[in-house]
Amino acid sequence: MRNLVDQVQTERTAVNLFFLNMLGLRLCLILCCPLIPVACRVHSAKEEPLASKPPFPWNKMRLPETVKPLHYDLFIHPNLTYLNFTGIVQIQIDVQEETRAIILHSKDLHIIRATFLSPGHQRNLNVLDFPAFEQIAVVSDDLISRGVHVLSIEFSANLSESFHGFYKGSYKTKDGETRVMASTQFEPTHARQAFPCFDEPAFKANFTICVRREPRHIVVSNMPKLKTVEQPRGLLDDYFDTSVKMSTYLVAYIVCDFLSIRKTTQHGVEISVYAVPDKIGQAEYALDTAVKLLDFYDDYFNIPYPLPKQDLAAIPDFQSGAMENWGLTTYRESGLLFDPEKSSPSDKMGITKVIAHELAHQWFGNLVTMQWWNDLWLNEGFAKFMEFMSVDITHPELQVNDNFLGKCFQAMEVDALSSSHPISTPVENPAEIREMFDDVSYRKGACVLNMLRDFLTPEGFKIGIIRYLRQHSYQNTVNAHLWESLSSVCHSDDADQGRMKLDGFCGGGKNGGTEHSKWFMQDELDVKAIMDTWTLQEGFPMITVEVKGREVRLSQQRYLKGEDPDKMSSFLWQVPLTHITSHSSTVQRFLLKTKRDVLYLPEEVEWIKFNVDMRGYYIVHYEAGGWDALIRLLQRNHTALSSNDRASLINNIFQLVSIGKVPLDKALELTLYLSQEQEVMPVTQGFSELVPLYKLMEKRDMEQLENTMKGYILNLFRGLIDRQDWSDEGTVSQRILRNYLLLFACIRRHPPVVTKAQQLFQQWTESNGTMRLPSDVTLVVYTEGARSESGWDFLLQKYLLSMSPSERSNIKAALAYSPVVDKLQWMLEKSLEGEVLKTQDLTSLLVTVSRNPKGFKLAWNFTRAHWYKLVSKFDLGSSAISRMVVGVTDQYSTQEMLEEVRKFFGSLPTEAGSELRSIQRALETIEENIRWTDRNLPLLKTWLDSRHGI
Ligand SMILES: [Zn+2]
Repeated sequence: MRNLVDQVQTERTAVNLFFLNMLGLRLCLILCCPLIPVACRVHSAKEEPLASKPPFPWNKMRLPETVKPLHYDLFIHPNLTYLNFTGIVQIQIDVQEETRAIILHSKDLHIIRATFLSPGHQRNLNVLDFPAFEQIAVVSDDLISRGVHVLSIEFSANLSESFHGFYKGSYKTKDGETRVMASTQFEPTHARQAFPCFDEPAFKANFTICVRREPRHIVVSNMPKLKTVEQPRGLLDDYFDTSVKMSTYLVAYIVCDFLSIRKTTQHGVEISVYAVPDKIGQAEYALDTAVKLLDFYDDYFNIPYPLPKQDLAAIPDFQSGAMENWGLTTYRESGLLFDPEKSSPSDKMGITKVIAHELAHQWFGNLVTMQWWNDLWLNEGFAKFMEFMSVDITHPELQVNDNFLGKCFQAMEVDALSSSHPISTPVENPAEIREMFDDVSYRKGACVLNMLRDFLTPEGFKIGIIRYLRQHSYQNTVNAHLWESLSSVCHSDDADQGRMKLDGFCGGGKNGGTEHSKWFMQDELDVKAIMDTWTLQEGFPMITVEVKGREVRLSQQRYLKGEDPDKMSSFLWQVPLTHITSHSSTVQRFLLKTKRDVLYLPEEVEWIKFNVDMRGYYIVHYEAGGWDALIRLLQRNHTALSSNDRASLINNIFQLVSIGKVPLDKALELTLYLSQEQEVMPVTQGFSELVPLYKLMEKRDMEQLENTMKGYILNLFRGLIDRQDWSDEGTVSQRILRNYLLLFACIRRHPPVVTKAQQLFQQWTESNGTMRLPSDVTLVVYTEGARSESGWDFLLQKYLLSMSPSERSNIKAALAYSPVVDKLQWMLEKSLEGEVLKTQDLTSLLVTVSRNPKGFKLAWNFTRAHWYKLVSKFDLGSSAISRMVVGVTDQYSTQEMLEEVRKFFGSLPTEAGSELRSIQRALETIEENIRWTDRNLPLLKTWLDSRHGI
């Protein structure tokens, strides 16, 4: 699945960095309900007296392992007029121990009848349910013998009003007609809301699906359609081919009136893109991209994509970013549809990456699946990592690696708090499972894989992961399986057959091999021991470097914000260190396994930079003048270091300010070099560190200092801003930077930019919105226009009529940043209603409003007032809810606000989320903001005064 946070933060870069700044997610822990005596409801063909309610025969949240599903025959009949559905599922099960009860999942389904279809007899069975665990028990009077049986269950339900299970969606045509559709979203635990099933990832089975429809609709599902059979009253039954063996969360079917376009890959897989009829003209880019990427993965993994087709569908109502259902990936419309006239390079980057992510899942996740949700990162960390790796090769013009580093910084933001958790974390109930879809599983997962790839070399890493996929196809895995596949790759059969032996990578004798092959040849290379330190403990290390002559003293300790020393002492990582020096740009490597160690340089150096290109997931503190030497280097000749290295220095020094290791004025001295900077990563990182400083003051009514700080940032980048032209020229990174800089300058009322934006907005309104604006500056022009009531109203009219998801996203971001408070309130209310504005966009809207200086109180009051409705719509523990909690509160910096937030969340009962990890994170972040502001404001004021506005 692609997280919505990812979707928004990655794809709408400019919006992200200003409006949605400083976000991330945090997992929560919800205590599971203790098992209480259960009064079960009885559904039975027989009449049972009320007094004889038997107890539920199972008391664990996980299903028994003694009954395994082999095959599901699923028939579904949705009614899009009455918004409900009926169904029959026949499950072939392998009973491995005699029992009287089969336990499986079912939620919010009305069970009509359950029977065994065993040869010779058909037995009606009692059905008990236990809603707290979302389970039913099918109970027989006789013992159910060992062996294979077929269990048939008839059921009915309403289409879900939320965004998961089998849920209702709708969209408006160009002519204003509303059309209804139904689609599925099952990951992680919602297949049980669509049909009774064994809804855990390790219960893989084959699925044969049949869906009844009206002639005006079509149905798409995981597999190709085999035939359509006409039924009485004009209805049609679509029969789909039997799937490969897969987990329940990957099942999908959509009933709609979409159109599609299609192409075939070089490997013979038919790819189709589906969208609502008015938008099918925007599907071409996604189709070409999917063809290219599926061919890439087919070749890279050297394991053929096993299905004959892959459909990509743009769904008008969709909560997360996208979903990897096998053979039928589903997306937000803005994640799939590209309008060459109106979409920006950020949109193109986002669409390409999200397709790369979902197609990578067809191997990582679908073919090989984590055993249980505690290792979700094996799916999501890999898919996120592969987004960058594959797009870098298939679409080099997108310069996708220019924003990989940002993902690691964002992961560290979350991972630096004591409310973080290890990548691999025990979870049991559905809310805990949903909370696993966070920055730690996705971004930290991807960053530690990137570190491992750098350590093992791309060749060694590739052989290892192919081995992992081959060995565990159609099965389930835990962390250890991956480490095993990545160890001793030179001794594997794959290496014998592959080019690693041939090109000398694995060496032969003392002189053979490459620089890295020693890792693979050594018996002591223990990938598991290294990686356990990164996946089984939370947080990350700070490496302290002290150079004395030729001696480099190294030490490690956990980097942790806050004041809890108990949470630091026992942590130890195996850190793949890299460094370059003023004397050598050749990367030197060293695996730090202990708390302290010493390296010897061949000669004395002026400066040393550790964590080259920040490929490692750690930060570095330079003592004994080490920072001063690097600051001097940046000011004298910043291009002596790569742009990633520069960005990492900016990030690291501000991280060190937060824990009092470096004084703020030293970090500010480092930022002075930014007046010469032109590369996207260091510039955006500079903004990411400096903008939150005035955001904290904004919440404390410190207008004078706030304005001085804003002036400092504007002056720092003034040269670069004034050099931007208002066009779509340049590389993708340059264009993203243009969007970013002009938006900042406009919001900060930089006169030349404001005047130009006002002129363009006026021309655009005079043309009634028909004039084409350069896509790189569209958001800037709209944001300026939305400052006035009349401009805002004009933009809203264009929004309501637009058929371009890219244009709609831009207009919506601009509307939500307007200073007209009544308009903001109106948007929030309409989004919650879901008629004029879509509820799927409420999360990003709320966070944008909270970034608006006129809106942050409104956003909090709205969240508080509608909490129960939000939770019922988006589901407890979902990334949407986490994002609201953290996004709305994470720039608060006063004790009063802390108390207000604490009091509200503290008053909630457990079932309404009081123990969500995101709430712990929100509180910790506000405490940290208060501490930071109290400690650093006097120093900041003195420093800014001494610069006299420079
Ligand atoms: Zn995913």
